[in-house]
Amino acid sequence: MNPIWPRVFQCFCRSSVLPRRSHSASAEHVTVPASTTFRHIKPTLLVSRLYQPSNLRDVGQDTRLQGEMYCKSQRLMQQAGLIHPSNPGCYYYLPATVRSMEKLMRVIDQEMQGIGGQKLDMPSLCSAELWKASERWDLMGKELIRLKDRHGGDYCLAPTHEEAVTTLVAHQTTLSYRQLPLLLYQVITRKFRDEPKPRFGLLRGREFYMKDMYSFDVSEEAAYQTYESVCQAYIRLFTRLGLRCVQVQADTGNIGGELSHEFQLPADIGEDRLLLCGNCSFSANVETMSSDRTDCPQCRTGTLVESKGIEVGHTFYLGKKYSHVFSATFSNAQNKPSVAEMGCYGLGVTRILAAAIEVMSTEEEIRWPGLLAPYQVCVVPPKKGSKEDKATFIAEELVHTLGETLPGLKGEVVLDDRTQMTIGKRLKDANRLGYPYVIVVGQGAVDDPPRFEVICQQTDEKLFLSKDGLLDLLGRVETV
Ligand SMILES: [Zn+2]
Repeated sequence: MNPIWPRVFQCFCRSSVLPRRSHSASAEHVTVPASTTFRHIKPTLLVSRLYQPSNLRDVGQDTRLQGEMYCKSQRLMQQAGLIHPSNPGCYYYLPATVRSMEKLMRVIDQEMQGIGGQKLDMPSLCSAELWKASERWDLMGKELIRLKDRHGGDYCLAPTHEEAVTTLVAHQTTLSYRQLPLLLYQVITRKFRDEPKPRFGLLRGREFYMKDMYSFDVSEEAAYQTYESVCQAYIRLFTRLGLRCVQVQADTGNIGGELSHEFQLPADIGEDRLLLCGNCSFSANVETMSSDRTDCPQCRTGTLVESKGIEVGHTFYLGKKYSHVFSATFSNAQNKPSVAEMGCYGLGVTRILAAAIEVMSTEEEIRWPGLLAPYQVCVVPPKKGSKEDKATFIAEELVHTLGETLPGLKGEVVLDDRTQMTIGKRLKDANRLGYPYVIVVGQGAVDDPPRFEVICQQTDEKLFLSKDGLLDLLGRVETV
């Protein structure tokens, strides 16, 4: 029997893509003059052409979200056409979000590779055997999404990959101590968790992106050093994103192991309760401490204050918990097999993005970590038919100049060509979407010398700059 995909594909081709015409008519169809064929391909990114369907309905009225709790980042992202709900805990990630996610993944790649991480990709469909060996098949309970294949075999959609990666490393019988530490990570895989109550949009979904890294070391001491270097990389990452993050001692939960930290972004809607010392750097998840404790166990003089946080990262020192079960060994300096010491480290990639929007945005306007904005610059030309109309070509030229003279801004500059709308209306949209730099090309642009109005969202400044001043300002924008 034919597999289904080619059949569907043929069907689709016949009915909708190619018109029902004779052979000669089809041939005629493909020899359309080049000028007509390429009419729609424009080198400039036009706001009117970006697929960003705004959903201005009240999110609370959306029947797909009935009964779900929702929050500011979710409402803003949905209204701005960044995400669209599909079924509980699952979303469409629309193009601007994908651009932002890809940037976040590049920053994460840089930081993970900076400490020696090597990227790999493991199957999402995992055999139950592995999970039974670690006893997590039962421990995970209903959170694990389980399925059977046609042969009756049990599988799960992996929420994490300790079993899989440890098995992989165990299969290499020639691993030497000289190759350790070994840091393996994935950053672009979807993870699945059957949340009882998905809520807050991308903050607590059933399908999400996570960066997961696993480390293998020769000794406990070496494993602690690796653990520390990953924590430092996480702190650098959040610093680069301009996010205030606290590293708190945490419970090891069902991952297991002996030492664990959470990376939390303090936020009102956070679902974790933290205790922070007002005097020193001590911070902990309430779960790890007796709840009535108010004095700091570290400096002993400070008072602990409770705060809420969104967990965006989690690190675990695992010891030999998994490497022992799956026999992940290496040959040591004496050429004897020795069980590796492990750690695992997660970053909620989608959650970082949503949490950043949650903590940075106002009720009406989205604000991004500068590095992650889908586009860095929006150029707003005058309204069609207005007295500044002749500045339109200056705006178009400016978009080209920026993309060509500033390599970092290639593909980062959009032109709001909806010139049937007033500048004011388009500015309001640009502010809501949170482009870090909005350039208004109005009357000032045709003056001598020309002046451009620049609104810097990150600093809330409004500047009037010459073209050179503009190039100088935007030349310093960091992109990834
Ligand atoms: Zn203290």
